[in-house]
Amino acid sequence: MWKRKYYVFLWIENSITTSVLSELFEINKPWYIDSVLVNHSLKEIDLYIKYEKGSVFACPECEKDCKIHDGSFRRWRHLDIIDYKCYLDVKVPRIKCPDHGVKSLTKLPCMRMETHFSLKFELNVMHDVLEMSMSAIAKKIRRTRQ
Ligand SMILES: [Zn+2]
Repeated sequence: MWKRKYYVFLWIENSITTSVLSELFEINKPWYIDSVLVNHSLKEIDLYIKYEKGSVFACPECEKDCKIHDGSFRRWRHLDIIDYKCYLDVKVPRIKCPDHGVKSLTKLPCMRMETHFSLKFELNVMHDVLEMSMSAIAKKIRRTRQ
């Protein structure tokens, strides 16, 4: 028997779907969309984004290309898809620099490390600030005013 209180998950791991989504979300190599999780109960979509094995990233100290040490997922709110909240769950690598040791990346292509919002989300909200009240913006993005 189906019970409404349980979450409904749908995994999308179709290469055509992920390649279309990669174009729409401007996800470029070495990044790729690994999978998409749709939670109908929470009305949320999560795009899981990883980097290709063997990728190198610039050391934040010296800009030298370095191998990946490890990585962990961080989640950023992105622009909604229809009426679903959309999140980018990015596996953020730490690199191992021969001169500076293990370092976390300080820059990613479409988000700032200091926030939990993608750059497009922030730009959208900043545009709304010019025309809407804070409570109207909070309602639009479905957050409390805090
Ligand atoms: Zn370095």
